[in-house]
Amino acid sequence: MSRALRGYRCSRCGATWAPDARRWRCDCGGGFVLDDEGGGDAPAPVSLGAGSTPEVPVVAAGRRLRAKLEFLAPTLSFKDRGAEVLVGLAVAVGAERLVADSSGNAGTAIAAHAAHADLPAEVFVAASTSAPKLAQTEAHGAAVVRIDGTREDVAAAAVERVRQGDAFYASHVHNPWFWEGVSTMIDELDPLPDTLLLPLGNGTLVLGALAGLRRRGAVGRCRIVAVQASACAPIAAAFAAGADDVAPVVGHATAAEGIAIAAPPRGANVLAAVRATGGRVVTVDEPAIVAAGDELAAQGLYVEPTAAACVAGAHALTDDDGEVVVPLCGAGLKSA
Ligand SMILES: *Cc1c(COP(=O)(O)O)cnc(C)c1O
Ligand SMILES: [Zn+2]
Repeated sequence: MSRALRGYRCSRCGATWAPDARRWRCDCGGGFVLDDEGGGDAPAPVSLGAGSTPEVPVVAAGRRLRAKLEFLAPTLSFKDRGAEVLVGLAVAVGAERLVADSSGNAGTAIAAHAAHADLPAEVFVAASTSAPKLAQTEAHGAAVVRIDGTREDVAAAAVERVRQGDAFYASHVHNPWFWEGVSTMIDELDPLPDTLLLPLGNGTLVLGALAGLRRRGAVGRCRIVAVQASACAPIAAAFAAGADDVAPVVGHATAAEGIAIAAPPRGANVLAAVRATGGRVVTVDEPAIVAAGDELAAQGLYVEPTAAACVAGAHALTDDDGEVVVPLCGAGLKSA
């Protein structure tokens, strides 16, 4: 007999909730984390084979890094790790349709895994999203809803759709089961490096990495250096100011569309995660993003600008950062 699913705990008021098909945040408006004390099982993933990605050495900013090829995933981004668990949760709670909002890759990953589970999906995106990501999402049978507006407008439209209807909100930003899926990347690191150089938009990779480090008892041994595009860097600003919460910024255009998040809903959780590891948040400008993409391509690795942005963060590393793993999170053809 299977046990109950592990539940949620509100990161604001501490209330606990059992996962169900409709609830995506606490009645107080606070965001969920997984409840570590209540027991219960993880949902069985709906797997298309994500994970077990290879590592190759690369050189960036004159420094040797261990690059983990996270773009070698079913839909060509690391988001598949989270999507397989989140869609597994949707199946476990009896959801009949999914709604997601995304800057592109999360929606694609949800669409693919929903298709595999035979669940209909609606994916809300900004009209400006890279055409290949939209083509990929539509190919999986998802209804793509293009919103003329900011990433925040896209999220608001998805939330309104969830509020009105009967859909499960398959949100990579709000649902901690997504991060739990992402955390498997940390299990695969052998040896664990001194530093993880991670891209940072909404922070699902940062939060997933923290969950994985916790599981390995390694939070004090491996720091997270998170990278934002200087054109849209609200979490870097909050980190530099020593703040506990993130104030929204007016984001400017960046080639790194996957991390262009001006008002990250889980910003406070992300700041706490980076600080828990003794890490920091750094920024990279547009020329550095282009240069890092060129440098990787010259070594045989073709990635999207959002993935290159993370590698560009190598400029901010010091000798103290020791051995570094950097995930290459999205394939280059996604932004062609
Ligand atoms: C989603 C994404 C990111 C950033 O992840 P967040 O969870 O928003 O911090 C980085 N790189 C790629 C390629 C992505 O798709
Ligand atoms: Zn609450």
